[in-house]
Amino acid sequence: MRSNLRRGAMIGLVVAAAACQSPHVGPITAVVPDSLAIRRDIFYLASDALGGRLTGTPGNDSAAAYIARRYAALGLQPMSNGYLQRFVARPATRGKAPPSVPTQNVFALLPGRDPALRGQYIVIGAHFDHLGTSIEGAMDPEAKGAVRRGADDNASGTAAVLELARLLAAAPTRRSIIFANFSGEEEGLLGSAYFVEHSPVPIDSIDAMLNFDMVGRLKNDRLIVYGVATAKELPALLDSANAPVGLRLTAQGDGFGASDQSSFYAKDLPVLHFFTDLHDDYHRASDVPEHINAAGEARVVTVAERVAREIGDRPGRLTFTRAVAAAPVGATREGSDVYLGSIPDMAGDDTPGLKLTGVRAGSPADVGGLKAGDVIVEFDSKPVTDLFEYSNALYAHKPGDEVGIVILRAGQRLTLHVTLGKRGS
Ligand SMILES: [Zn+2]
Repeated sequence: MRSNLRRGAMIGLVVAAAACQSPHVGPITAVVPDSLAIRRDIFYLASDALGGRLTGTPGNDSAAAYIARRYAALGLQPMSNGYLQRFVARPATRGKAPPSVPTQNVFALLPGRDPALRGQYIVIGAHFDHLGTSIEGAMDPEAKGAVRRGADDNASGTAAVLELARLLAAAPTRRSIIFANFSGEEEGLLGSAYFVEHSPVPIDSIDAMLNFDMVGRLKNDRLIVYGVATAKELPALLDSANAPVGLRLTAQGDGFGASDQSSFYAKDLPVLHFFTDLHDDYHRASDVPEHINAAGEARVVTVAERVAREIGDRPGRLTFTRAVAAAPVGATREGSDVYLGSIPDMAGDDTPGLKLTGVRAGSPADVGGLKAGDVIVEFDSKPVTDLFEYSNALYAHKPGDEVGIVILRAGQRLTLHVTLGKRGS
């Protein structure tokens, strides 16, 4: 599997290189994304030497220093005392570790070229921390002592931000851009929460935040972008940015999600989260650089660069919209604390049922035998064709109920008996 993926990535590189030289498919800007640079950054950040970049460890600090050196080499400006924003993280989730650890965000400024718009900013960000050897949050807690290197989560997003910094520095937009790399994300969005509370510019001068978390596994050309409902202009803007790149775009949702864009959306700012979907290696020691699709990530970067240029050059600001909360999908859903622990495939595909990209380790789903790749087609005798029917069926229950879940696994129809759990326990 590993060598096949590598070969696939290499073929992709060759095709991308050929496309750039073709007279019919000209480059979109003078400087085009460099998938080799993306690959090199990911291989370094996710190397054993950095030990998985857990917040507060030397490997995390080394990653921050590497990012800062890259900004210096690009000629980007420090905004405070150097490129580092030091803060003390208080990881609520970490078992035996000390209650607080010193760490740092990294950020740098690319001034806008228009004096009239230079005082407005786009933040282009990604977290660079990961799990290290901690089993908190790991999907493979049985692998004690293993280094979880977080190549996709989130060396890939870090590499995307560095590549965007290079591309945008070559031809700045009218607005200014802040490139920001957050620590402490895995332990509760700590770095981005600190950033928005100690922003180097007035928070309301930020026009949008573009977040990159897990963008290294482009598969079947499918790119997910969350947050399009946070500004009126974003859906059309995203479509036109993607048009010449031609990815299969799934754009949806408000600005709350399990990554750093949430910290900015909570400040009433338009946000987007670029994402190439969950996979079997998520939060496992197997999230290694060899599985990265660097050529695919370069295409995601092209879309993102076009989005950044569109927002950065438009005469007016985006119109923030607080997305209407999703309608409750079941009468008893509100206040329910029933918990299964399955991880649905966010982008979905066209097959009826609810496909899982994984299950949380030790969750009722895990204990009950559900696995990544399973498709739930029936829940407690109720048919399930999509996420909404599944939610309705789930939230009709309470913790402790035993339910029959019918799944399709490798073409076989199986019934599993699962005892539902309680959220937060
Ligand atoms: Zn993560």
